[in-house]
Amino acid sequence: GRFLDSVAALGEQVPDRHRTPERYPAGAPHPGPGRFVSTPDTDPAVPENRTWARDLLARVPGSTLGSATIDGAWLRTSSEVDAQVTGAREAAVAWAALPSDERARVLHRAGEVLDAHRAELLEVMAAETGKTIDQGDPEVSEAVDFAHYYAELARDLDHVDGARFTPARLTLVTPPWNFPVAIPAGSTLAALATGSAVLLKPAGQSQRCGAVLAELLWDAGVPRDVLRLVQVDEDALGRTLVAHTGVDRVILTGAYDTAALFRSFRADLPLLAETSGKNAIIVTPSADLDLAVRDVVTSAFGHAGQKCSAASLVVLVGSVATSRRFRDQLLDAAASLVVGYPDDARTQMGPVIEPAAGKLLSGLTELAPGEHWALQPRRLDETGRLWSPGVRVGVRRGAPAHLTEYFGPVLSVMTAADLDEAVAIANDVDYGLTAGLHSLDPDEIATWLARVEAGNLYVNRGITGAIVRRQPFGGWKRSAVGPGAKAGGPSYLDGLGTWRTATATE
Ligand code: GLU
Repeated sequence: GRFLDSVAALGEQVPDRHRTPERYPAGAPHPGPGRFVSTPDTDPAVPENRTWARDLLARVPGSTLGSATIDGAWLRTSSEVDAQVTGAREAAVAWAALPSDERARVLHRAGEVLDAHRAELLEVMAAETGKTIDQGDPEVSEAVDFAHYYAELARDLDHVDGARFTPARLTLVTPPWNFPVAIPAGSTLAALATGSAVLLKPAGQSQRCGAVLAELLWDAGVPRDVLRLVQVDEDALGRTLVAHTGVDRVILTGAYDTAALFRSFRADLPLLAETSGKNAIIVTPSADLDLAVRDVVTSAFGHAGQKCSAASLVVLVGSVATSRRFRDQLLDAAASLVVGYPDDARTQMGPVIEPAAGKLLSGLTELAPGEHWALQPRRLDETGRLWSPGVRVGVRRGAPAHLTEYFGPVLSVMTAADLDEAVAIANDVDYGLTAGLHSLDPDEIATWLARVEAGNLYVNRGITGAIVRRQPFGGWKRSAVGPGAKAGGPSYLDGLGTWRTATATE
């Protein structure tokens, strides 16, 4: 896709972001303890990197993508759940007793190992979830960043005056399939860094990604009894696992309804959940409209819209709504996206994770009163997974297409007389994850920043792709359940254990 195509114009420059076969097995050396440096994505301007990408794409199947179950990890009975919980809790004692520097060393090593296996991770993400390489590559960088960043944060936990951090004995990590490497890596590494044991239960649709990740973390020196890969039939044993009193914390990334379900299993469950989003980009007449078109399209249709952070609403203000210019350019840009499977290097937008059904199918096919398709989504093959992007216009306030998260390649266009109305439209939704504004007017920017109800605010750029330490990620309203600490931010680890203070009278 863009990864391979966008480079023709760039020539043969050789920056320092080589991923040559020689360097590959060694990965990027981390600068060492005490420093954090963001890991670069693979630079497609480097010819060797393009060869490397083509080689890995050659190993990805086409329309027969899908998940394989990880036999060794399956828990089939309550006593198997019990055994894993008990075993992990026992192993946590020695892990927590290590000096935090030693755990940090293992995490730094984990970051290096993940980076060294970038190709393998991209291949399994593409094959299992349909993620294109240009979407997967920054995800691997994010996983690597989590390792190095949390390694350093965990060392700081030892140096808080007057308070002592005590880790959870056991953390259950239940990540989603849409970021099948970065999110399980981030949650798992955060808990491990604090000294907790982890049961990692990958999403059913991305089990192999979870298994490859676990293998790499074990290779890096995380003990196998401290990090355990498990899989359960969600209906039968999910409740047993989540409700188990031996589980001290659950880190969930997924739908708001899943967080509510977990709470129904166990009312006092210590849950840290990053949940759904229905995120709007507002475009005002002062905006650079060309930039806005690009950012709306990448935020709405990157990974076929399957991100909590995706833009699924665009709110056009004043003359942007009444003139045709923005809308025509937007439609043109969306219609020009090359849709396909990730094995084809030309693909810019890949498939959805499962044959469209339920809420997603209604989002792709049904119109409410007043709505019509400016760009109608089309089912492109027999699998039910490959859809062209859709843009729905005439969406009224309160309509399903205004308020429902479809989690797919479909965008609602709404209009507002002024910025106040646009902000109200953005804030109508139950969620508050990401939000975008395209405006070059400082007063508008200030007003929007003050009023918009979302955790991650992006001005004049796309609204996906948070970056560890620079743009920690996490939402507000129904986009977060629990303390709402930001993944990749300075206080993330604080919520993963208990703080104790002590005073004594002589
Ligand atoms: N952290 C991702 C981003 O900023 C989104 C995570 C998600 O969709 O769950 O795009």
